[in-house]
Amino acid sequence: MLKWLGSLIDSNEKELKRLEPIVDQINSLEPDYQKLSDADLRAKTDEFKARAKNSETLDDILPEAFAAVREASRRTIGERHFDVQLMGGMVLHQGKIAEMKTGEGKTLVATLPLYLNALSGDGCHLVTVNDYLARRDAYWMGPIYHALGLSVASIYPTQGPTGQLPALLYDPDYTDEKDISWPHFRPVTRRQAYEADITYGTNNEFGFDYLRDNMAIDLSQCVQRTLNYAIVDEVDNILIDEARTPLIISGTGEKAAQKYYNFARLVPQLKEDEDYTIEEKERQTYLTDSGMTKMEKWLRRDGLLKAPSLYDPANYSLTQYLENALKAYVLFKRDRDYMVKDRQVIIVDEFTGRLMFGRRYSEGLHQAIEAKEGVEIQPESVTLATITFQNYFRLYKKLAGMTGTAATEAEEFHKIYKLEVVVIETYRDWLQKKHPEQDYKRRIDYPDQIYKDEDTKFKAVAREIENLHQQGTPVLVGTVSIEKSEKLSNLLERRGIRNEKEHWVLNAKNHEKEADIIAQAGGIGAVTVATNMAGRGVDIILGGKPPEEPKREDFNGDDQEFQKKYQEWLKKESPQWQEWQAKHNKVAELGGLHVIGTERHEARRIDNQLRGRSGRQLDAGSSRFYVSLEDDVVRRFGGDRVKGFMDWAGFDENTPIEHSMVNKAIENAQVKVEGFHFDIRKHLVDYDDVVNKHREVIYAERRKILEGADLKSNILSMVCAEIGKLVAANCSSDTMESDFTGLIEELSTMLPIPPEINPQALAKMRPDEITEKLVEYAEQLYEQRETEIGADNMRLVERLVMLRTIDTLWKDHLTEMDHLRQQASLYAMKQVDPIVVYKKEGHAFFQSLIAGIQHDVVHTIYKVNIEKKEAPAQRQPQRVAVPAGKKVGRNEPCPCGSGKKYKHCCGR
Ligand code: ADP
Ligand code: MG
Repeated sequence: MLKWLGSLIDSNEKELKRLEPIVDQINSLEPDYQKLSDADLRAKTDEFKARAKNSETLDDILPEAFAAVREASRRTIGERHFDVQLMGGMVLHQGKIAEMKTGEGKTLVATLPLYLNALSGDGCHLVTVNDYLARRDAYWMGPIYHALGLSVASIYPTQGPTGQLPALLYDPDYTDEKDISWPHFRPVTRRQAYEADITYGTNNEFGFDYLRDNMAIDLSQCVQRTLNYAIVDEVDNILIDEARTPLIISGTGEKAAQKYYNFARLVPQLKEDEDYTIEEKERQTYLTDSGMTKMEKWLRRDGLLKAPSLYDPANYSLTQYLENALKAYVLFKRDRDYMVKDRQVIIVDEFTGRLMFGRRYSEGLHQAIEAKEGVEIQPESVTLATITFQNYFRLYKKLAGMTGTAATEAEEFHKIYKLEVVVIETYRDWLQKKHPEQDYKRRIDYPDQIYKDEDTKFKAVAREIENLHQQGTPVLVGTVSIEKSEKLSNLLERRGIRNEKEHWVLNAKNHEKEADIIAQAGGIGAVTVATNMAGRGVDIILGGKPPEEPKREDFNGDDQEFQKKYQEWLKKESPQWQEWQAKHNKVAELGGLHVIGTERHEARRIDNQLRGRSGRQLDAGSSRFYVSLEDDVVRRFGGDRVKGFMDWAGFDENTPIEHSMVNKAIENAQVKVEGFHFDIRKHLVDYDDVVNKHREVIYAERRKILEGADLKSNILSMVCAEIGKLVAANCSSDTMESDFTGLIEELSTMLPIPPEINPQALAKMRPDEITEKLVEYAEQLYEQRETEIGADNMRLVERLVMLRTIDTLWKDHLTEMDHLRQQASLYAMKQVDPIVVYKKEGHAFFQSLIAGIQHDVVHTIYKVNIEKKEAPAQRQPQRVAVPAGKKVGRNEPCPCGSGKKYKHCCGR
């Protein structure tokens, strides 16, 4: 392990060494670039674009392009990229992850590779953790791109409560007087935002747009271009934490059963240990034999049991309700895992404490929790389209990421995304190397304090906060849940540190307001309590937010006007400025921001993120974690060892201990949990990979249809194949064995059969002649219909029938794959790897999906009628009514009596 780590560090060094000469090259270009006029600087972009089109690679152009961006940035937003930032930019350009600590200026770093890669004209995406940042960063960096003649846009959720337009383009020539924060954002369409050179948005928005594009029935509804290059900001959060839940677009299905309530009523009567056991490590719970017997007795009494034993296949659906009800009752805690708001169960993200509106636990668990809480059970939803983030981000030609904390997860990035992590030295360390005589400040991380129980721990935390608050040191406190934030808030209240006056609680609900609070979190004596993720991406400045300076870009390059305004501002604002400066110095003298962690998180990375909020750039700062033996991570994985040690050390309730051995034990526990979560995510990807292959095929087909592929010959060859199949099934060269009546009956579910095609006539022909004759007839009928309704209409019908059929069957396929997955997991008990079963059966399902599409298209195409009606005011894209004749539903039992579904039997 150590050896491996050692080689990792070596290779990192080598990697950085290789970048140094390029940094020198960029630096040597600087004087020339500074001499360029604004217009000449802008003209550089056209020159680079032309060169990129001709023989040069982006790597060749990199030094000049970076020099141009650095100069544009200096002129517009007044920030000149540090050398370490240039290195970060290069790593991102190479399609790797740049680990750069919080406050190192990653927003600015990204401008370098985004500009360079946008030169190809294919568009680049910057993925942010929330939609506030998608707007803030596009706007903040906007002047740089604009000075270089590139366009930049920001996308955010369409379902916004105020009905805003779905995208914004940065345009200094446009001014919205009402918008005081972002006046130069011009509302544009989604599609225009994607046509911009650079587009900022959240992972959800990018992913949903992708799924929606693949549900469109007309090319004009598609908004994305090909996925070229993406930089994912806070990449660990998006590609690791968020990657546990796939993106799903769903519709509502049937109303759920009363059974959830029945089970929710029965389960609480079971006794822990006697009737069920809890596996803390796996977060699982199992019924014991005694529990099983009791449940059977109660279910029999209530008339729900279909066979005497719960294990009987007839009771299969019951066991699912039972499992979910038990899980909901035993493992899922209100206000920790979920909240009940307006009589709805809302999931709480365990990492961020954020309320995940609209997301639901899958496979009936959400319904079970609703039943447990006695609220209305929402109907089960049907998946219309879904993709994991893993598979969405793999679609990009080049992917890169940046974050303050990636190194602990390097293995996962490599295995799942083939992303390498390169650690970039901090600006501070770089300065220190250059000026060894100086003493630059850095954050001090104090060892953990460990308490026996949680209450004592929280009291100690509150005491410590009070001390720091009185002394004037700003404190940022991280908690693991909303519940604990509130608990601490109450304790502080009792000490006279009042909520919303002396202290603020953040749960990452409102990004905009939260950004403001976080920006003030460095003020004198400020106390901010936040669930771990709240306010990520927003800088904490010592002394609080400084008064806003006039911005150069607001003067359209008119330097004189800007200088005049700046002097006026200095005069007018200078008392405020001085006041802020004094506060800033005071906080710095007190040692900067102090971060308190109230619990170790399951992943070290999350702890590091919290710590990273302090000691940014050249600031002083400090941090400490408080731990108790009752904390989840300690209990679940390292509890006994830690406790043993503490008992051995013999200390009382109120005295905390600080010991490196205990810290080690806790860290070991974290490593174990990280591995456990990695396995879960890996598992999700392994399963999604199977569906992903199907998705690729289906989406590619859809795309071809939208782009105007020749469907007529396609459909006719399906007709031909379908007829061939029917003839083969019904006719043989021996007329006696053939069933001509059956053949004609089946054919007539497809297309009208004229009287001259009858059993007697067919009996005179060989099977291949029959096929030929029928195909000829079908083709002729097709042409006839085309003449009747017109070629344009026929093309429209073809497209709609194909799309509708694919979409309907694809949706069913997704549901079936879901069920298959649940069934496959049962194989684990038989020592068969479920994924193998899933792959094999999944392949068969896919074959049957393809057969089903052919069947349904052929059986619909001859029946569609075009009616002339006034076009409705607004076209509903998803719904296209195509009347179909009576036929055996693909999910109905096969009429042959085999007991299988039609599509898995004769309908194949
Ligand atoms: P990160 O995302 O890495 O945590 P940010 O992009 O939020 O950091 O930047 C942190 C702060 O550093 C911002 O206030 C930004 O203006 C400032 N900053 C970044 N780079 C520079 C630079 N080259 N010169 C001056 N200030 C910079
Ligand atoms: Mg950032």
